[in-house]
Formats: sequence, structure tokens, C-alpha cells
Amino acid sequence: MSDISKLQTPNSKLNLAERDKKVIWHPYTQMKNALPHIPIVRGEGVYVYDENGKRYIDAVSSWWVNIHGHANPHIAQKVAEQLNVLEHVIFAGFTHEPAVLLAERLLPILPGKQDKVFYTDNGSTAVEVALKMCLQYWDNKDKPKTRILAFKNAYHGDTFGAMSVSGRSIFTDAFNSLLFDVDFIDLPSEGNISHLTSYISHLTDTACFIFEPLILGSGGMLMYEAKYLDELIIACKQAGILIIADEVMTGFGRTGTYFACEKLSNKPDIICLSKGLTGGTMPLGITTCTNEIFEAFLSDNKLKTLYHGHSFTANPIACVASLASLDILLQKETLGNIKRIEAKHAAFLLEIKAHPKVKGVRQTGTIIAIEWETGNETSYLSNLRNLLYSYFLEKGIILRPLGNIIYILPPYIISDEDLDYIYEAIKSALEEI
Ligand SMILES: *Cc1c(COP(=O)(O)O)cnc(C)c1O
Repeated sequence: MSDISKLQTPNSKLNLAERDKKVIWHPYTQMKNALPHIPIVRGEGVYVYDENGKRYIDAVSSWWVNIHGHANPHIAQKVAEQLNVLEHVIFAGFTHEPAVLLAERLLPILPGKQDKVFYTDNGSTAVEVALKMCLQYWDNKDKPKTRILAFKNAYHGDTFGAMSVSGRSIFTDAFNSLLFDVDFIDLPSEGNISHLTSYISHLTDTACFIFEPLILGSGGMLMYEAKYLDELIIACKQAGILIIADEVMTGFGRTGTYFACEKLSNKPDIICLSKGLTGGTMPLGITTCTNEIFEAFLSDNKLKTLYHGHSFTANPIACVASLASLDILLQKETLGNIKRIEAKHAAFLLEIKAHPKVKGVRQTGTIIAIEWETGNETSYLSNLRNLLYSYFLEKGIILRPLGNIIYILPPYIISDEDLDYIYEAIKSALEEI
């Protein structure tokens, strides 16, 4: 008894980073030579604070999820209230107000006409569901199609299906032989669009086209124009290919409109959402679809059922957090903040784009990316990336460069002063590194 209770007490001689090192395996981290992980004790607005009281500006919205910053009081209050009412219930055979209300509020503001919400609990699973919906849609219609179209540098998540439709990279290297075969195309541009549309017109066995609209996030914040995506979608629709917009990163205001697909004339059949959905408070994933897709699963034949679900499907706390996050997103003030960030970003890029160390700059809405001149060395593993990461941390800014690409993807409440502080830090990095 006493031995067990001793084991349950943390070793008080070690600090949190040391205790972490003994028991935790962190994501995307080579643990052999990892720097100590910084213990964060609280968050407020755009800031998080470590155990020594040092303040960090969260300039990447903690992996793109905290769109309204940290510890938002409105979201916190709604979540706290829900905790005392219903924390969770099985979502097969049962339903609850937060899940229904979230679907009722979300569907009308999505681009095009989306009719049904399918809940999961993260972005990768939202993508898995979208892929399964498409593949089984064709199967249920007795016109099986087995191939999928995607972009070369895409990132759709880390589960096997999501990895398969993502670009092959160091992230997938150990698994490439097990990933299913996908037809990858380049990002569209004026130079290749007619080639791409003609290629698509010849596809006969393709179930769906999955893409990150306007900007490929993890692939390096690679941006492309809505008008060319529109042309790809038209070609796909003509070839009988279903359209999946992976708005996991771009959703909820990130690109300047509530959803990136609002900038398209041709709308997707399926939309994947996660990241900003709950304002970064809880994990939740959503896959929405049209009635056209949904109805292909209605049958007396049980085999036509979508057999997919997760233990935490439609968790009520997560749904309530999403509703509260939506309240804030839909306030005029938030859209004003998004426009303010867009304008400041644009002015900053103008200022630095001619710098000799800047290879290129790009912007979509509240996201800017600055590509560092490196000569040939551009891999994620490059030393430059680690230098930059540490440099900004030192200055109290969380920026996680993707290789030689620095990007800012801030919470919408970030102040002009904090944006200026980040811009100044980038300018001094350009001089010093
Ligand atoms: C992050 C991301 C995913 C995966 O979401 P997770 O919640 O990390 O599994 C999928 N698609 C896009 C576009 C993303 O940015």
C-alpha cells in the first residue's frame, strides 16, 4: 500500500521537463536529441506562460487550432456548464442537443449546399470518413471506383488513409510500401491548367479528388489560385469524380472568408473540418456531405451502411465548445480582426520581400509565409529550421518553421503591437541568422 502510494507521487527533485523526459514521447520529435520541452502552466489570449513566468506569443495558434487564443472565457463558461449536464453519451442510438444544434448552425454557413454532419474527433479521422464516404458511394451505386486524386505536396493527416492521400515525404517514408496508390497532380497554375484538366478528363476509375483549398499547410504553406481550383473541380465533376475539400486548416476564417471554398464558384460534395472548430478547446472532427452522397447509403441492404464510428464521436463538451467558438467567429468584431491582420500582413510582406535572404513571400488571408534563401538545402531537417525556431522562442514567440519556411498563423485577437513585435523579430532574424 505505502509502496504504491509512493509510486503515485511525482519525483519532487525533478522539474517538469525532466519528469516529461522520463515518461513522454512527443509528436514529430526525434527524442534522441530533443531540447527539453517547455512546461506551460497557463494560457491567456494570444499568450502562453511557462513555469518561470516567461510569456510566449502563440503565433501559430498552437498548431492552427486556437483561433480565438487561449482560455477564452466564453468558451470556458459554456464548457463548464455542459460538464455538469452531460459529459458524454454513446452516439449510436442516442443523440443530444449540442450535436444537433452544432449541425443546425454549421450547415447553413458552409459553402455550397451541405446537408449532413458526420462527427469524429480529429482532422485525420474527418479525412478517413470523407474517403470512405466516396469509395463506398460508388460501391453502393454498383459502379465501384477505387482510385483517388490528390495534390503532390498535400497533407491530410497521419492515419493510414490520410497518409496515403498525402504527399510522400519524410513523414510517410517508413510506411510508403503499405500506403495505397494515389494519383498525385501538381498544384494548378496558368502554365499547367489545361494539361491537368485534360489529364482529369481521361480518368475513369477515380472515386474522388481531395484537396486543401487555396493553401497546402504542412506541405510548406504552398498557395494557389481559386480560379484554377475551380477549373479542376469542373473537370472532376465532368469526369464523375466526387469533390472533397479538406478545410481542416482553412476553415473558420483562416483564409479571410469563413471557409476557403467560399472563394470558389464550384462547391465541394464533402467538407472536412477540425482544428479551429472548437476554438482549440477540445478535439472534434466533422465530415459534412450533400444529400446526394447521404442518400446513396440509404438501403434495406445492411451492407450499404457506413460502418464507421469512434468512441468519442460527437462528444457533447466538444460540440458545446464548437458552438461557443462559432458565437465568437460570427461576431462582426472577429471578421474585423481578420481583415485587420490581412492588411497588416500584406504591408509587412511588401516591406521585406526584396530582402536578399528572402526567396519568396506569400499570403492567403491571415496566413503569411516567408521562404528563406538557403542555396540548395531546403529539407525539413535543415539546421536553419532549428536555429530559427530557437531564435524566436528566445524572443518569446512561438513560430515553428516548416524547413526554411517561416509562417505566421495567429489567433484572430492578436493585437497590432504583438504583430509588430513578431514582424520586428523576423526582420532581425533576417539580419542576424
Ligand atoms: C492538421 C490537418 C489534418 C489532420 O488533422 P489532425 O487533427 O492533426 O489529425 C488534416 N488535414 C489538414 C489540411 C490539416 O492541416
